[in-house]
Amino acid sequence: MEALIPVINKLQDVFNTVGADIIQLPQIVVVGTQSSGKSSVLESLVGRDLLPRGTGVVTRRPLILQLVHISPEDGRKGAGDENDPATWKNPRHLAKDVDAAEWGKFLHTKNKIYTDFDEIRQEIENETERISGNNKGISPEPIHLKIFSANVVNLTLVDLPGMTKVPVGDQPKDIELQIRELILQFISNPNSIILAVTAANTDMATSEALKIAREVDPDGRRTLAVITKLDLMDAGTDAMDVLMGRVIPVKLGIIGVVNRSQLDINNKKSVADSIRDEYGFLQKKYPSLANRNGTKYLARTLNRLLMHHIRDCLPELKTRINVLAAQYQSLLNSYGEPVEDKSATLLQLITKFATEYCNTIEGTAKYIETSELCGGARICYIFHETFGRTLESVDPLGGLNTIDILTAIRNATGPRPALFVPEVSFELLVKRQIKRLEEPSLRCVELVHEEMQRIIQHCSNYSTQELLRFPKLHDAIVEVVTCLLRRRLPVTNEMVHNLVAIELAYINTKHPDFADACGLMNNNIEEQRRNRLARELPPSVPRDKPVPVARKLSAREQRDCEVIERLIKSYFLIVRKNIQDSVPKAVMHFLVNHVKDTLQSELVGQLYKSLLLDDLLTESEDMAQRRKEAADMLKALQRASQIIAEIRETHLW
Ligand code: GDP
Ligand code: MG
Repeated sequence: MEALIPVINKLQDVFNTVGADIIQLPQIVVVGTQSSGKSSVLESLVGRDLLPRGTGVVTRRPLILQLVHISPEDGRKGAGDENDPATWKNPRHLAKDVDAAEWGKFLHTKNKIYTDFDEIRQEIENETERISGNNKGISPEPIHLKIFSANVVNLTLVDLPGMTKVPVGDQPKDIELQIRELILQFISNPNSIILAVTAANTDMATSEALKIAREVDPDGRRTLAVITKLDLMDAGTDAMDVLMGRVIPVKLGIIGVVNRSQLDINNKKSVADSIRDEYGFLQKKYPSLANRNGTKYLARTLNRLLMHHIRDCLPELKTRINVLAAQYQSLLNSYGEPVEDKSATLLQLITKFATEYCNTIEGTAKYIETSELCGGARICYIFHETFGRTLESVDPLGGLNTIDILTAIRNATGPRPALFVPEVSFELLVKRQIKRLEEPSLRCVELVHEEMQRIIQHCSNYSTQELLRFPKLHDAIVEVVTCLLRRRLPVTNEMVHNLVAIELAYINTKHPDFADACGLMNNNIEEQRRNRLARELPPSVPRDKPVPVARKLSAREQRDCEVIERLIKSYFLIVRKNIQDSVPKAVMHFLVNHVKDTLQSELVGQLYKSLLLDDLLTESEDMAQRRKEAADMLKALQRASQIIAEIRETHLW
């Protein structure tokens, strides 16, 4: 199977690049009756004397023979840990003290290395006996053997016990069934090629091998018939009809071979000699079919099947390579180019950040968050939902009770009994209520400040990804913006505080919207006067609002309270509207717009200094490394893609 080696070798490079064995070469499984020559066929395919063969039950446990290709120069010093993919590619650097071109290893003997193939055969026999006993017993437990060689492809061959009918020795009564199960277990794997072995001196029409193969492969898409012992046919008979497919057609082909006889084995005839003699035999006996039979042709046919399989897998592999290449390309892009002009890069990054920051506030950013409000939209939400709602929920008369009001009225009148509700008490009380607007207003500033802080993170995470390459610059930018924001905080707070203070400074009872309320008060004064003239008249209907005082209020007291309350409410609503309107404006002017306008110059002023250049543009430690890895990977993928294109054009036959 040497012809496949260069192709598989190339593919192995691809696999190593892509990081997976996508193409699982089919495993080749031999089935057939006992002594039909299964082990002999496998052995001639491998080209080595390594399997126990003989008359009677010889193969009594499945043998999973894994061929591992090594490059020729690795052969001299081979045998690393073959479970490590690195070793498969280059076992040399893990080399143990083996000085051989080919060697074998058993799973059950761990790291022991067999360079003598006779010893390997002996170990198979010993291990068979260990589990299956020495009296023809059979065990389904496989023996795992790996052969490392420069002359093999990475392929798995499975040798199985032969099908039998009658139990002998220690074999149980249902031996036929047990072996059947065992065989089915291996050949039902769709990724296996079945070599159905039938001896030429038995009846092909009743071939057990083909029968069982049919069960799992009814279409015959992965069954190849092998006719052994062509040399042992009775005088006067030949296998012409069988080989021509006239007895039983087999889609993938029927290939006749001549393996070594028991005598040849006893005489230690070499594989090479055997193949030469086989060729001679075929030329003589089946001249017309000689070039379509024989061990070499069988190997070529398997090659072709494997190659077909490989080609079938190529499109998927190619897709996978393309996907990976695209991923690495975008990864590489995100890492950016290595910095050449540091000064320009710094300025560019700063500008980009500042622009993104402003864009996020304006709502024109490239990357728009969809999972939550952010930037300008969030500020708008804070103004109108959070702040607006909070203000609206402030009760104009909250925290005031009737006693407070009465006390204020009394205190404002001083020693004289008052004729009218004194205006001073209204001012006093309404100021107290207006003050309550300051706290939510300052809270609004705080929320916007927090959001402005959050935008920094948003910009460096999403919009200005290059920044992630330069952690120091990133931190410095965050620091500058944070400072700028922090500096604007007291100024804005002061302004907002002043907005409330301004309202407190002058209670404008001439405010047009307040006129209605004033009229109301005057009416009340009139009413009071009338009441005083008719003292005997029953008091007005008591307020439904419960009065939270122990003593009962006089009718006059009640009326005074009511008047004051109404005035407070009316004036408070005017002020609240003002605050609701002016605080957002102040925040925008003193905080948001100011930061937006000065951000760029602030950043440039503080960071764009030749002294800082090298420090700020230090890439994160592993970045250069990662960029190189991604670039290498990309190159490897492109090569892999090229290899695949080449393989598609390769003609093996
Ligand atoms: P298995 O039981 O199917 O694995 O068969 P083996 O490979 O052990 O072979 C059984 C016997 O048949 C051995 O003695 C082989 O030497 C012999 N044998 C196998 N193939 C041929 C062949 O093509 N010609 C001859 N003359 N003998 C063969
Ligand atoms: Mg055998």
